[in-house]
Amino acid sequence: MIKRSFIGLTEPKLKCDLVEPGPKEPEAIPIPPRLILLLNEPLDSTKETLVKKGDMVNKGERIFLYKESKEYVAAPVSGTITTVAPFTGDFGELATYLVVETNAKQDIHKSFTESISIPDIQTADSYLRGIAGNPPLKLLAEAADGAKSNGINIKKIIISGIDQDILCTTRQFALTRFRDELSKAVAFLKQLTGISDISIVMPDALAKLSAFNGMNIVKISSDYVDSLSPMLMDKYLGISFVPGKTCEELGLCFISVEALFSLVKSYSQKEPVYEKIITIIDKKGKKSRVSATIGTPIHRIFTKIGVETAEKDRIIIGGPLRGVAAYTLYYPVTPDMDTLMVQDSSVIPTISDYPCINCGKCVRICPTNVPVNVLVRYLEANLYQDAADSYDLFSCIECGLCSYVCSAKIPIFQYIRLGKHELNKIELEMIKEAENV
Ligand code: SF4
Ligand code: SF4
Repeated sequence: MIKRSFIGLTEPKLKCDLVEPGPKEPEAIPIPPRLILLLNEPLDSTKETLVKKGDMVNKGERIFLYKESKEYVAAPVSGTITTVAPFTGDFGELATYLVVETNAKQDIHKSFTESISIPDIQTADSYLRGIAGNPPLKLLAEAADGAKSNGINIKKIIISGIDQDILCTTRQFALTRFRDELSKAVAFLKQLTGISDISIVMPDALAKLSAFNGMNIVKISSDYVDSLSPMLMDKYLGISFVPGKTCEELGLCFISVEALFSLVKSYSQKEPVYEKIITIIDKKGKKSRVSATIGTPIHRIFTKIGVETAEKDRIIIGGPLRGVAAYTLYYPVTPDMDTLMVQDSSVIPTISDYPCINCGKCVRICPTNVPVNVLVRYLEANLYQDAADSYDLFSCIECGLCSYVCSAKIPIFQYIRLGKHELNKIELEMIKEAENV
């Protein structure tokens, strides 16, 4: 693997949008009659599931597929399970979806209220995975438990008040909304995790607000690539990016401001927080913000706030550079869904299977100096290992800029994500095999 240093962009830099001054409260979307939950474990036709059609669940109750399952999804409402079915996610990964029909009466699950008392990372992981903002509880709990840490030693937590794509402002909104309580929330996080090195990262423009005085603030520019974790770590925190290693493997854990406040509130109110703040961008680029229960099908949001969608329009989860297309309007709100965007069918950028014309735009714009024009040839030919060994696949920080500028409209970013996914899958299989020997 070739290691390359970061270089500045040579193309004009894209800027991130800033949250508007004095933002309004998000519009609350009513809890729908049916919610869709995604559970990150595939169904196995040879085994009987613990959860069945007709089962009653209470809000905050954990739903496991099998006795030996380690993954769970928590019920965001009290209701009745009406469907347990296979689901195919990104890159054909198999999972399970459940439909919960909402009850009129909303009770909190007993074991949740009994267990959530004193902040403790293992209990938080056992009961609060999947609350709004998706706090990295599994990572923090495993890192705290020597036996499960897999060599990951989290030394520093970064509370992120910056968004991950150019038009998104959900995290900045959460930062301005909760700014007066941030100091107490940091103290809570220290108690919960036992980690005392905690900083808050935010755009320079917001750091001027007096509410943040006395806190450990990292101010960053509004340049789009600066907002991405590996770049931020390298440029502002003095921790060098190592291709092929995650920020977590380098001792750093990111948590969004919204996720932190969901945690704080889940403890203080003794009720898990499942209302997710989402920035909505309509076809004309107009932004609004909603608060919707996790599991709400996204068409309910569009209908409630009057965002029109037509056949062949593209619904993007995330922003224009890094987002992924949703193939159905029944896709549910997920704990980490910060942005939903609708693109009119007439303006969807075309993708093609034309060959690369070697214009070099991708190479010039790449912030990590990846030889994208060569890399893409290997990825197109499914030569993933060669792409990683000789053409810097793992130096890519997934900014999406190469796809954005590509003259031949090659979906380079998608090829890169697929290549990394396939290699990670092979590595996981090899680890499993080694464990079973
Ligand atoms: S997505 Fe493209 S431009 Fe961005 S870091 Fe990766 S290879 Fe470079
Ligand atoms: S931008 Fe597209 S066409 Fe131009 S060199 Fe890169 S891959 Fe080839």
